[in-house]
Amino acid sequence: MAITVLQERDRLGVKPGRLFIDGEWRDASDGATWEQVNPATNEVVTTFAVASKEDVDRAVKAARRAFDEGPWPTLNARDRKAIIQRLVELITANGEELNRLQTLENGMPIAFSSMSVVSSAMAAGVFDHHGGWIDKICGSTYPSYESAPTGSEVQVLSFREPVGVVAAIIPWNAPMMLFAQKVAPALATGCTVVLKPSEYAVLTSLRLTELIEEAGFPPGVFNLLPGLGDPAGEALVTHRGVDKVTFTGSRAVGQRILAASADGIKRVTLELGGKSPSIIFDDAASVAGTAMMAMGMVSMGLSGQGCVCQTRSLVQRSVYDEFVESAAGLTSMVTFGDPFDPATTSGAIINKRQLDRVLGFIEQAPSEGARLVAGGDRPGGDLAQGNFVNPTLFADVDKTMAVAREEVFGPVLVAMPFDDEEEAIRLANDTEYGLGAGVFTTNIARAFRVAKAVRAGTVGVNEYTVMPNTPFGGYKSSGLGREGGWGSIEAFTEVKSVIIGLSG
Ligand code: NAD
Repeated sequence: MAITVLQERDRLGVKPGRLFIDGEWRDASDGATWEQVNPATNEVVTTFAVASKEDVDRAVKAARRAFDEGPWPTLNARDRKAIIQRLVELITANGEELNRLQTLENGMPIAFSSMSVVSSAMAAGVFDHHGGWIDKICGSTYPSYESAPTGSEVQVLSFREPVGVVAAIIPWNAPMMLFAQKVAPALATGCTVVLKPSEYAVLTSLRLTELIEEAGFPPGVFNLLPGLGDPAGEALVTHRGVDKVTFTGSRAVGQRILAASADGIKRVTLELGGKSPSIIFDDAASVAGTAMMAMGMVSMGLSGQGCVCQTRSLVQRSVYDEFVESAAGLTSMVTFGDPFDPATTSGAIINKRQLDRVLGFIEQAPSEGARLVAGGDRPGGDLAQGNFVNPTLFADVDKTMAVAREEVFGPVLVAMPFDDEEEAIRLANDTEYGLGAGVFTTNIARAFRVAKAVRAGTVGVNEYTVMPNTPFGGYKSSGLGREGGWGSIEAFTEVKSVIIGLSG
């Protein structure tokens, strides 16, 4: 089996990446660079400049100037919308290239990159959706009343203003979609942006930035800083010129960002990790189908490296064995291989450090009493050069085990039996996370009861997917605030009340 990562790199004409600050491409001030590695082969695809503290300062000052001196925040709605629409057209026209770049940077199979919720078409849709809000962001008027000190009549109006300079930090697993999720509402509301992509996936961010440049945004409105968490990320979230931080990534980094934002009382939105449950009742329409979906979600596409993967299957005891058997059966449908082969179903773990972490959970689980039903090892042959892990299923898992509590971020599903609805809800909520959940039943009343009782930001009933442009975020340690659709417009604006004296 030939893996065509480097041929694809040459075909796409990938060049070393640079920083984009104040409308200009430049190297890092200290000349530092980093390697973009593809996890299917661990080959170096290219190098890119990584921002120093000085570069962060320069980018934030450029974004500050573009915000404070305009014209972007005060540009009329029609003109702002036209530029965003031009960007939508450019993303659409370059969609296939973007999908292939995403496979090149993080190794997700091309079929997944092109067809799923992480594709360029979805990213274009997110810009289109938020561009559509621009001329519909309205405030409120309140009944006039008598002001207490003077007794004269006043009228109060409230309206929404852009929150200011936005620092956006994204992870590597869905880089195009998350770029759009942050940048589209920020630009639509009139904010200016400094975005730091993950050091493990820069190619789509670099290409999207070229398209932003081509679309004609004024200099400083959007700045791209490829860089490391420390120093670039740290310098960005602690910079006094930043008004808001929007972050998607791990809980540990989210906690640091929240603490750092206290200085300056920055606005913060956090989209963090999860340990999402799916609750399968014995009256589910198809227990076997649900089992295949559950196993498929953690083993197809990103191989379980998705924040919303439902990695804990809570299954009613009477259908538990059927579920486990069907879930194990799905693992034979997983195909590893060249990520650019449309027949490849599943990608590699992003880097060696994360690979060791996933294997560590797999090794620990049996020693805690879990039963290994499928997987637990790595494919050999040519695939051994990449970071692949076979889809892994543990049954008879107890809620105290590490594999049931921690976000593994790999192709690992755990199955746990329950007896009744009350126990299912208790198990579902027995986690520090609260990002997503699923309820599988044909009993509509039970579906509603359980959906209401589970403490998670998104609950699917007989359904697993996430919907773009709807409010998305987490309860508990899974995050702070909501982004998506109107939720993003609220997250990127401040509300101002203006009191007008009517007797003057
Ligand atoms: P990560 O937290 O390691 O890194 C995310 C980003 O933060 C990267 O750009 C990184 O460079 C940056 N960073 C690291 N240290 C920093 C610091 N001290 N200050 C500022 N920035 C810093 O996460 P990851 O491994 O890239 O992504 C996986 C995690 O992301 C998982 O936990 C997953 O659940 C989560 N995730 C959540 C969502 C969601 O919407 N809730 C979506 C995708 C991924």
